[in-house]
Amino acid sequence: MKKKTPPLSHRPPVVVVVGHIDHGKSTLLDYIRKTSVTETEAGGITQKISAYEVKHRRLPDNKAGENGIEETITFLDTPGHAAFSSIRERSILIADLAVVVISAEEGVKAQTLEALGAVTNAGLPYIIAINKIDRPNTNVDRIKQSLTENSILVEGYGGTIPCLPISAKTGEGIPELLELILLMADLLELTTDPNVPATGFVLEATKHPQVGIVTTLIIKNGYLRLGDFLIVGNLVGRIKKLENFQNKNISTLEASSPAVVIGLPEIPPAGAPFTTTNDKKTAEASAHQSAEGKASNITGQLTVAEGVVMLPLILKADNQGSLEAVKKEVEKLNTETMNFSIIYSAVGQIIENDVKLGVGTRPAIIIGFNTRVDRNVVEIAEKYGIVIKTFNIIYHLCEWLAEEIIHQTPVAEVEKTIGEIRVLKIFSHEKNRQIIGASVTQGLVAPRYRVRITRRGTPLGEGEITEIKQQKSSVKRVKIGDQFGALVESKIVIAPGDVLLIFTREKH
Ligand code: GDP
Repeated sequence: MKKKTPPLSHRPPVVVVVGHIDHGKSTLLDYIRKTSVTETEAGGITQKISAYEVKHRRLPDNKAGENGIEETITFLDTPGHAAFSSIRERSILIADLAVVVISAEEGVKAQTLEALGAVTNAGLPYIIAINKIDRPNTNVDRIKQSLTENSILVEGYGGTIPCLPISAKTGEGIPELLELILLMADLLELTTDPNVPATGFVLEATKHPQVGIVTTLIIKNGYLRLGDFLIVGNLVGRIKKLENFQNKNISTLEASSPAVVIGLPEIPPAGAPFTTTNDKKTAEASAHQSAEGKASNITGQLTVAEGVVMLPLILKADNQGSLEAVKKEVEKLNTETMNFSIIYSAVGQIIENDVKLGVGTRPAIIIGFNTRVDRNVVEIAEKYGIVIKTFNIIYHLCEWLAEEIIHQTPVAEVEKTIGEIRVLKIFSHEKNRQIIGASVTQGLVAPRYRVRITRRGTPLGEGEITEIKQQKSSVKRVKIGDQFGALVESKIVIAPGDVLLIFTREKH
């Protein structure tokens, strides 16, 4: 049965600032925080979290004097020092777009190119901000020229990459930068389903001496509610305290918002995806499922909504248009008992980080549409048992996923009782193999049936009858009233007097 696709709403962009050390990332983030965020009384769990929301009043058609609409941008304010490069990498994964800062004094440096590489690899759209233009003897055109020499073609230099001069010190160009970020976000058509429990990423987590584990999250879809259960890998906890980025107690938060929560029992890994649910049993089942996930297994499922089995999916496509088209088609494939849960989607080729995400929410499937995947990424995925499939035709992609949904839908197993035997004697016992003498008290017994060992009516465990003998020769079956010898494989040590129920499991 097909499920109705819910209406999606717009969500604000999540922005990461990257670039060479000392080119002004922190100064820019501080300037924006200071000028666009209303300071509130401290008093929350943490004084300053690594993300904040900005309200920018957009002027219609950029005409001054008219009252524009106020829109939100979320900035990830993760440390910019080289030693924190893995934090920056994770931020790139969480963000929707990037601002690459280049100092007008120093120009393009090794870490500028490294940052540009990481951003383009992740398929993240970006803006280049040429900073420190207040400094004497700076030449913006020279920087644009050197970007061209590195095959980065900005607007006005034969390319389409937006580029603008700013000063993080004086604030020159910063309103224009915020305007440009919102303009790019319009093109990205970022959406959220406001009716589903939140999913997103862990930005950072610390242990607070008084309150316990404090986790900062970035919500990428749905709503986050105080009292819901938060699931990160095999960690699960009820959200006991929820604060917004300004450390204000809050009961719900929406997509793209940073959230500070207390409730997890241990520190989760930064960058890990999270899901939420309001159902305790479902939460525990998902965490357990995740803990049990084996490297070579994609057949388990993740249950995150009552009665519905969720199959995590990571989507990558060549452009935003095809990504949205694929998302819409995938949603149509959901059934009443089985839903694809898109835990991450982005433009760009399939990279190692996608596999890491998949490992965190195993079992996950990575789907690429009109996009590439490197041989070494395939090898890493194989190692972790993550399936990667790429398609060039949307119909083939849907066909494969539709088959997968049938394949992954849990099969109900029904037990059918065949007979019952009473154990008379134990002839030998070696490791998990025991030779018993028994008589059939009900039904019949044959090799290859399962047995449930019971002692005085209490089930002790299971095993399998592998061979049956009568008068020293193997037989195919014995009936009620017959005595026989049997080889039973089981970890349970069988004793005379035990009753063994003989059964099969049939799939429906
Ligand atoms: P990061 O390592 O990229 O985060 O760089 P910082 O933000 O720490 O900046 C490095 C230095 O450059 C600091 O001394 C800043 O005060 C200075 N700086 C940053 N932006 C500007 C700017 O626009 N103009 C001037 N004159 N100095 C700046």
